[in-house]
Amino acid sequence: MFPKTFQKLIDQFSALPSVGPKMAERLVLYLFKQNTDTTKQFARDLHEFATNVHYCSRCYNISEEEGECSICRDKKRDKKTICVVEEPLDIIAFEKTRRFLGLYHVLGGNLSVMSAEEIKKLKINQLVQRVKDEEIEEVIVATNPTTDGETTSLYLGRILRPLNAKVTRIARGLPTGGDIEYADEMTLLGALDGRREI
Ligand SMILES: [Zn+2]
Repeated sequence: MFPKTFQKLIDQFSALPSVGPKMAERLVLYLFKQNTDTTKQFARDLHEFATNVHYCSRCYNISEEEGECSICRDKKRDKKTICVVEEPLDIIAFEKTRRFLGLYHVLGGNLSVMSAEEIKKLKINQLVQRVKDEEIEEVIVATNPTTDGETTSLYLGRILRPLNAKVTRIARGLPTGGDIEYADEMTLLGALDGRREI
């Protein structure tokens, strides 16, 4: 129905989460209607994004530079405390509170929702290695307050406890089934302050 190049882009957009084929068609038509400069800039930005954005080699946050992200490289941060989160967007939520001054570790998901293959991709072994190598004193487990997040938290508690680090879980107060990414700052502050050992 559409020219081949047009269709190719529709297919790309349809493959994105929450974008159906109809929406993809509308988006591509929108891009087509923009003046050429805007669309070309969009393509350049996408190329730059694919080339220049990496995972931090230490905490798996999103990083503009190869190697460590800006948080890991910040000399003022407390390098003995790690806050474990499911996704990089959770880091942004914690950073907004300005209360947490340690480092992070992004798991890349949680334990229950994924296939065995995907679970292997979670950065759990890397976390264990960091706790050992970086002589971490406290690991704050800040997985989401969902059933899967709690399962992950219990599992992390079990494997981290023998490593001489204090392992704490952020307090409830976050609505069960909620998502840290969307929690307001006051709630997150309360959850951090009220954390307990697991
Ligand atoms: Zn980092």
